[in-house]
Amino acid sequence: MARHRDAVCRLCRREAQKLFLKGLRCFTEKCAIEKRNFVPGQHGQSRRPKVAGYGLQLREKQKVKRTYGLLERQFRNYFEKAERGKGPTGENLIVMLERRLDNAVWRSGLASSRSQARQLVLHGHVQINGKKVNIPSYLVSVGEEIALKEKMHQNAMVLEARNVAQSQGAVPWLEQDREHCKARVVALPKRDDVQTPPITEQLIVELYSK
Ligand code: SF4
Repeated sequence: MARHRDAVCRLCRREAQKLFLKGLRCFTEKCAIEKRNFVPGQHGQSRRPKVAGYGLQLREKQKVKRTYGLLERQFRNYFEKAERGKGPTGENLIVMLERRLDNAVWRSGLASSRSQARQLVLHGHVQINGKKVNIPSYLVSVGEEIALKEKMHQNAMVLEARNVAQSQGAVPWLEQDREHCKARVVALPKRDDVQTPPITEQLIVELYSK
């Protein structure tokens, strides 16, 4: 499966904000945004270019795409599906991205980043209603139970993620049972449930509507 292979902290630095791509490190002073919050590259330190119009729209799209760990084609497909759905396209897009299984595993506090959650899914450690699902793009639905296989419950990476998640706020659309490494989808995510990073989805709609 194609994926982004560059150093992920560069992506945050490019967007000048934390995208939380690296798990636990994002919560420490080692975070590159804390230490070097300037554009990566040879001239990054000299100035942060002013962005307006098309540039602003492009940066917003890149930010969301990178946050959810998608490549351009995959992101575009989500946008096209969102356009065909009922209601505002931008909202549909964000809700669909949130419903991805890798994102739901991360939101459930069972992995410390979306990429770690994706690994868990790809390696067959995640079950939906008791059955293995190894497709990170699977869209979770109301009533489904997301669980880690029992052999992963004591995995050091999972235990660490659970510890960090305890200090994070609850996710309104998930009923979390971290002790048993599972969560139930009690509602579909709403646009307002997604606050980090701040997203202006209208800019993405404008970009793709050109
Ligand atoms: Fe790196 Fe995480 Fe900080 Fe982003 S938020 S710069 S991924 S440590």
